[in-house]
Amino acid sequence: MVDLPDLVDGVPALTIDGGPVRPPSTFDVLDPATEKSVARAPLARGEDLDRAFDAALRAFPVWSLRDDVRRVALLAASDVVADAALPLADILTAEQGKPLPDAVREVHAAAAWLRYYADLPVDREVVHDDGRRYAEVAHRPIGPVAVITTWNFPLVLAASRIAPALRAGNTVVLKPSPHTPLASLAFGALLRDRLPDGVLNVLSGGDGLGAAVSVHPLARKVCFTGSVSAGKEVAAGVAPDLKRLYLGLGGNDAALVLDDADPATTAPKLFAAAFRNNGQTCVAPKRVYASRAVFRPLVQALADLAGGTEVGDGKATGTELGPVTTGAQWKRVSGLVADALSRGAVAVSGGRPSAGPGYFFRPTVLMGAEDGTAVVDEEQFGPVLPVIAFDDLDDAVTRANATHYGLGASVWSSDPDRALAVGRRLDSGMCWVNDHGTIELHLPFRGSKWSGLGTGGGLWGLRSFTTPQLLYRPN
Ligand code: NAD
Repeated sequence: MVDLPDLVDGVPALTIDGGPVRPPSTFDVLDPATEKSVARAPLARGEDLDRAFDAALRAFPVWSLRDDVRRVALLAASDVVADAALPLADILTAEQGKPLPDAVREVHAAAAWLRYYADLPVDREVVHDDGRRYAEVAHRPIGPVAVITTWNFPLVLAASRIAPALRAGNTVVLKPSPHTPLASLAFGALLRDRLPDGVLNVLSGGDGLGAAVSVHPLARKVCFTGSVSAGKEVAAGVAPDLKRLYLGLGGNDAALVLDDADPATTAPKLFAAAFRNNGQTCVAPKRVYASRAVFRPLVQALADLAGGTEVGDGKATGTELGPVTTGAQWKRVSGLVADALSRGAVAVSGGRPSAGPGYFFRPTVLMGAEDGTAVVDEEQFGPVLPVIAFDDLDDAVTRANATHYGLGASVWSSDPDRALAVGRRLDSGMCWVNDHGTIELHLPFRGSKWSGLGTGGGLWGLRSFTTPQLLYRPN
């Protein structure tokens, strides 16, 4: 058991209208390293959801008008989260599986999002102020926002959506993943004293609650992070009410390693990007197309790195990769790897799930898995990386683009300008050169094609939680 705040009989509370709410039903949250219960989480009811949105709507008029209050409140929220880094990280590791130092980094990243947006003013643009007329575009808040998150980075996802939403003057109802609700519930409890009542409400429950949150009549914008399939359901659900929508969905990022890349310097960076958080990162390289000139040494270097990685319980000192977070995901990764091996691929490291307990799967580098195999064509979202040799760069670009996904991509080369030119041909919302997945708070984060709708990060993220208004006056 971890040290959770706000417990009654071992169960944390929902946060609604600034206070704790304890519905009668609960559900189990498992530690993926042991498959034992970490704690039980409250199962929010329809009436809890209505109360949360009523509170968010009531809080909206005052909150939306007080720019100064919002800035100070978000700074205080950032401080309280950073101060609670260790207990929050303990919860994250227990329910998500990531090594404790990674969990501590995630909490500080969540605090950084709150601080960054606290200091980013909601601007207005004066387009004309001359003898003829005054015209300005103001960026007004939208209203109560539904934020639905998934389990790979529960606190960073929550904070990176909540911070711009609140800073812009909206109020929020947050629904975390049923696999990792505890850190988000603790986050909500910590912020009760830092935010006015009703400004942030946190409700835990299953996928049905997510659907109910997204179609709630009082939600004016839905900000959803998760799978493409659920994202499409959310999009269809919000359409009749014309709610504003942000979707952060899956990816199947290609990394193109060109013939002039140095395998010795490329492999460690590629490995870290592909396997951080156990490959459960939306912007991770999920298939590598490597020029045949560097293919063998690259694969060998990746395999050596995989072989030397310490896999274990995230709570243990020295663990570099924890378990896969959910049993379903562990089975899926196992199935994708087994399917590739049965079709002739070779695992140069890893290759099969560990015997339980715990959803462990050693980092697996595959060669010989080609396009047309599920492990290449689909997002694995786990510790497996197929590396595919190419002879013709144009063909590799075509194969990288031949997917409905379009989140990230990367190009690796000793000639950065050549790599940038290749990157400009990739159909992705983001493309890195000699790097993959670096996120900076002030830069845009987005997916094209089925990987998402809308842009997060920086001013783009802030403005996505606003609606523009033209103010015009003849002079
Ligand atoms: P999921 O879609 O199953 O669940 C995500 C959240 O949505 C959970 O809170 C869940 O309870 C809720 N939910 C499920 N069905 C719903 C529905 N019909 N309506 C409303 N809510 C619903 O997600 P998952 O498969 O567990 O998450 C992993 C996926 O998330 C991967 O594809 C990953 O790439 C993606 N992801 C994307 C980003 C991004 O910013 N682009 C970030 C992190 C993860």
